[in-house]
Amino acid sequence: MRVFDSLVGQDHVVNVLGEAVADAAAEPAGPSMTHAWLFIGPPGSGRSNAAIAFGAALACPDGGCGRCEDCRAAMAGNHPDVEVVRPEGLSYKTEEARNLVSRADMSPTRARWHVIVLEDADRLTESANNVLLKSIEEPASRTVWLLCAPSVEDLLPTVRSRCQVIGLRTPATAAVASFLEGQGVDAGTAAFAARASMGHIGRARALATIESVRNRRHDVLVMMRDLSDLASCMAAAGNIVEAAKADAEALLAEREETERADMMLAMGAGAEGKGVKRVTKAAMKELDDRHAARRNRTVRDELDRVLVDLLAWFRDVLVLQQEAPVELVNEEMRSDLARMADESQASDTLLRITAIRDARQALAMNVAPQLAMEAMVVKLRAPRLAG
Ligand SMILES: [Zn+2]
Repeated sequence: MRVFDSLVGQDHVVNVLGEAVADAAAEPAGPSMTHAWLFIGPPGSGRSNAAIAFGAALACPDGGCGRCEDCRAAMAGNHPDVEVVRPEGLSYKTEEARNLVSRADMSPTRARWHVIVLEDADRLTESANNVLLKSIEEPASRTVWLLCAPSVEDLLPTVRSRCQVIGLRTPATAAVASFLEGQGVDAGTAAFAARASMGHIGRARALATIESVRNRRHDVLVMMRDLSDLASCMAAAGNIVEAAKADAEALLAEREETERADMMLAMGAGAEGKGVKRVTKAAMKELDDRHAARRNRTVRDELDRVLVDLLAWFRDVLVLQQEAPVELVNEEMRSDLARMADESQASDTLLRITAIRDARQALAMNVAPQLAMEAMVVKLRAPRLAG
């Protein structure tokens, strides 16, 4: 499978990137290859996957064969010339940006290009943005910046005007399902995961392959059906936060384990002496701190995903109330949805949808998850009472 085959439903993007890869291999590089790119698309459209695949194709001697050592290392995030950077906390700090800029000046070690994939570029603080600007304006001759963000408006105009924009679309349900089937998922599960994820590839893959993620999603939706009194609301809020934590755990556990093993290897596990032990201990502590920060961020991301599931649930209720002729996201729970549609008005459903949108916004503004969920669940139970 070539690296661009993983870009589900993005043929237009694959064409543009393919041309750039061909031009990048020429000497001197052709006009389709530039030094700064901005990958934009809604969450889950796979903007960072697209950027990483592009990085792999630039590192591969065969333009992204998907099989060679360069492709595999780049796709796994281990290639020395295809660096993937994520903010360790909720935003990129100026310090992180400075380190990045000094690394960006370095020549590639074995590939032709030194690629830096900057995920969540919308989380650059203004000062971090300014630190990066110079390097993006006048990059070293072999350096390529690949920025990823939800939309062009998320970046300062000075930065985005330097970038060639690549727009990812939310892939169609059918395209996601057939991608999952290609990965060995059975047709029924693939169809369910594609529908339930609403085009979010990472989520679709997790739903299709991790049973606990699937079960937690179901449990959260069932909870919405059973909100009876205030106590059940508070319990539901707690459960939603716990579900997000558990999903984050399931997604990160393997990666953290690998990073810890790599670190041990790099520090020369088994080496003797007190000095070695002290250095190892400090480095491990730093790694643990980084993991904690990433976990915190991932929990928020997963929490947002749970809220998207809830939005889809009430969207389904509204579809039934309005008798709209469209497919239900949660077809397998049609009878529960129908009961809720009968027992409430469309105006209630709209208020509930607003409550979920408010909660998403509160989370984005760094409100404590438990508080945001409690406020939301109370409104979900009795939308007309809560203000
Ligand atoms: Zn290759």
